[in-house]
Amino acid sequence: MTFSAFSKEITKGRYLDPSDGFKEKESVFEIRHDAVTGVTSRILPYRFRVVKRPDINEYLEKSPVEKCPFCLPLFERITPRFTADVIAEGKFQRDGAFLFPNAFPHDRHNGVAIFSSRHYLGLDELTPGIMLPGFLVCRDYFARMAELQPELQFCSINWNYMPPAGGGLVHPHVQTVIGERPTRFMKTLYESALHYNDGRGGDLWQDLIASEKGEEERYIAATGATHWLVSFAPRGMAGEIAFFLAGKSSIFELTEADFLEILGGFSRIFAYFLESNLISFNMTLYATLRKESRFPVQGRLVPRFMILPLGTSDINYFEKLHGEIICPVVPEQVCRDIRPLFQDGRHSGR
Ligand SMILES: [Zn+2]
Repeated sequence: MTFSAFSKEITKGRYLDPSDGFKEKESVFEIRHDAVTGVTSRILPYRFRVVKRPDINEYLEKSPVEKCPFCLPLFERITPRFTADVIAEGKFQRDGAFLFPNAFPHDRHNGVAIFSSRHYLGLDELTPGIMLPGFLVCRDYFARMAELQPELQFCSINWNYMPPAGGGLVHPHVQTVIGERPTRFMKTLYESALHYNDGRGGDLWQDLIASEKGEEERYIAATGATHWLVSFAPRGMAGEIAFFLAGKSSIFELTEADFLEILGGFSRIFAYFLESNLISFNMTLYATLRKESRFPVQGRLVPRFMILPLGTSDINYFEKLHGEIICPVVPEQVCRDIRPLFQDGRHSGR
């Protein structure tokens, strides 16, 4: 049985097909709505694929080490520092990772973290061990800000990896946002959980995960406390992967082992991206600072790409101005493609 918040409508279009003597052809597509996320996606059954992996060297040539603000010597000279009341050293540091204020802030508390001094890390080099310090330094920063300003409650770790996803530098970095109020999408998720009523006092996320696991259509796997699934109504043209940390009700309940589980899952998903010629993605991990049992730590990854030969954007008028996503891949097929990567242990190492 489909989860109660999911609904879909099948629609058909007709046209005379020039590739088949202009015979009448019917194309069937689904309009899916997820009441938990508020997302509406149109699933087109074409099994679209990016046929050629973009040339990374073009990006590397345009973003050289000498001009990189996250590489030495510019890193020391031009990256912002925190005021001494936040941290005396000016930056948070852990095992080669640094966190510092965003030079182009879009929130009152908006940080940037780099994993290391490595200027470029390909998707196959982003192992859990390489990424871990960058995520732990975010948690260190959240802990300090929660101590300084107890009214802060919502935090996120966000990643635009490479230019098709909005990444302005190739040097891998994530961005943190903390606020008293959630962002719009996080508010939707949070309020869906608060208002969830299945008539027996159940928990939205537990019910969602149990239903998806039982249905075996979009549930990828569990790794430790983390459940991985492909979204019913994705927010990207190439689909979306969601993850939930059952029972982890604040960012501070995540242990180093939990972060390694999450990042191990990322590595497996990155392997799927590479197999699919996808070299860019957006990721957000959403969490609360104070314990909130109705909102377990969770996140989403959306692959991003440009359509050749023109470098056409994967965001069009439908998403931008109608708020619906055209998705020419079938989420259930994405799940079937990713699942083997979670079964063979190839990407579980540090
Ligand atoms: Zn760099």
